[in-house]
Amino acid sequence: MSTAIKPEHQKELFGQPIGLYILFLTEMWERFSYYGMRALLVLYMTTATIGDDRGAGLGWTSKEALALYGWYTMLVYVMSIPGGMIADKLIGQKKAVLVGAIILCLGHGVLVLTDIWAFYTGLGLVILGVGLLKPNISTMVGGLYKDGDIRRDKGFSIFYIGINLGSLLATMIVGLVVAKWGWHAGFGLAGIVMVLGLINYIYGQKYLTHVGNFIEAKDDPNEISYGKLYSKLFSSPIQLGFTTVLAILSGIGWYYLDWGYGLLFLFLTAIAALLMMIYKELDSQAYKDRFLVLLLSFIMVIIFWGAFEQAGGLMNLYTETNTDRMLFGWEIPTVMFQSLNAGFIILFATAVAGYWAKRKLKGKEASSLFKMALGIIIMGFGFLFMVFAAMEFEKSGTSSMIWLVLAYLFHTIGELCISPVALSFITKLAPVKYASLMMGVYFAATGLGNKVAGIVGESASDYGELTIFSGIVIFTVIIGALFIMILKPLKRLTHGVEDQERDLKHEEAEGFELADN
Ligand code: GLN
Repeated sequence: MSTAIKPEHQKELFGQPIGLYILFLTEMWERFSYYGMRALLVLYMTTATIGDDRGAGLGWTSKEALALYGWYTMLVYVMSIPGGMIADKLIGQKKAVLVGAIILCLGHGVLVLTDIWAFYTGLGLVILGVGLLKPNISTMVGGLYKDGDIRRDKGFSIFYIGINLGSLLATMIVGLVVAKWGWHAGFGLAGIVMVLGLINYIYGQKYLTHVGNFIEAKDDPNEISYGKLYSKLFSSPIQLGFTTVLAILSGIGWYYLDWGYGLLFLFLTAIAALLMMIYKELDSQAYKDRFLVLLLSFIMVIIFWGAFEQAGGLMNLYTETNTDRMLFGWEIPTVMFQSLNAGFIILFATAVAGYWAKRKLKGKEASSLFKMALGIIIMGFGFLFMVFAAMEFEKSGTSSMIWLVLAYLFHTIGELCISPVALSFITKLAPVKYASLMMGVYFAATGLGNKVAGIVGESASDYGELTIFSGIVIFTVIIGALFIMILKPLKRLTHGVEDQERDLKHEEAEGFELADN
């Protein structure tokens, strides 16, 4: 046997590269700060400016607060697009994560101050920081594995546990801190944990030497800048025509909705134009097809989050007003139901990933596209329990909390089939030089899903919960089934990227033994 000492970045723990755990912890603290702060936001904005034990709030109406909240939670993810572009073209993912983490520390730090300028500046910095950190840390996880390594999906599931551990801890601790020391202590705690995340990331660099490094453009003869891609738009009639139509629609949106939507649509038009030009410039049909299938899969992503994110809005209100929360004489606080999702993820993530890996090794259908479509269906079935809850409420004036628990359980299993799987899928399919951009587009799709969720949730006041919950079941199950029906042609577009996945580590080990003997 060889006695050579492995370099740090090749060292493993529980069968996974140690770098995975460094990224796990960094993302865990980042998510703690994000979800901790997010949990306070609406409450802080709507609390009166005087007379509250937790300190002065902003005294806004709930409509004003929810409007800002909706834009904020969408923008943090939409900014992943520029965040990804900066990584691809300027500094690489590793430095982008570092800069993002520093900006996040500053952002949460500024929120400790009580002035209104500090509030807006802090939120702006958090949006920029998440935009730089979130997509790029996810792409780095993919970089830990070679093509075809079956451990990749499981690695993403472990990473996903880190995300939810952060969110679970935040929702449990931040509320207590605010109750004792006030709003700005809560914001400060988010800042302190982000500093922990930053220290952990810097410390762990020796395990990450091989991932997220910037690929110099001059080393690649086919390199093409975003500026050049945009200038080529003017000699591409189809793409130019399509872009013009989108731009006109954005203008109409600006006029009839408001300037916020107009700006958002214009930004998305610019991104759509860029994606079309990248598609045109990709140098092989396999790359083009994979690019296309990724974009198609993002439709599933928008629909999934558009339904799933009722959790924080409509389902939250439903828990508060229509659900019997008494358990052995104690009324469970509404916010605690928000922890169910993160708790279920931590419990079931490795089991779900393990199940798919076993299925794959047995040669049964376990492609990412299949899992994602199934994830939508499972999540959709979760809403069936909300339909039962709404029916019970209409009959008896209250509904059992078991429906909520079952709904969140199904939502979580659905999430585990789609969310970590999609992250992993992107790192398999995206062309290397656009890997971060595609991850950014993915997160922007989840951000748009959040916005859709808000719009659907609001319409419950017109149509009633029973109609909305039933509508979500029917719509999501049909969409999931449609994707399963077109699975074969879609899979063909991936050019077998997942067909070759196998236990590389095991094979390497065997090869090693043979070579040594
Ligand atoms: N809850 C997950 C996270 O915080 C997924 C969020 C998303 O993809 N929009 O990372």
